[in-house]
Amino acid sequence: MRKCKRCGLKTVLNEEEINKAVEQVTRMKGVRLASEEEFKNRFAVCAECEKLEYGSTCMLCGCIMQVRARLADGKCPAKKW
Ligand code: SF4
Repeated sequence: MRKCKRCGLKTVLNEEEINKAVEQVTRMKGVRLASEEEFKNRFAVCAECEKLEYGSTCMLCGCIMQVRARLADGKCPAKKW
């Protein structure tokens, strides 16, 4: 199983696992989240990006974008958002 070197999450998750990861991250104390609009704008860019695989995983950073794009400090490694 491949895991992200930074956060430890598996890099390929099914929908249920993605939803669980999102829930865990959004409930964490001290985590600053992007607005829902910002998240949607970011994820729309990812959805069109050639680096997105499995509908969730950025091949440049290994992150699950449904999670990373929600973080206020989240960044696109290709500077697309
Ligand atoms: S974070 Fe950037 S490089 Fe990665 S999938 Fe999204 S737009 Fe593409």
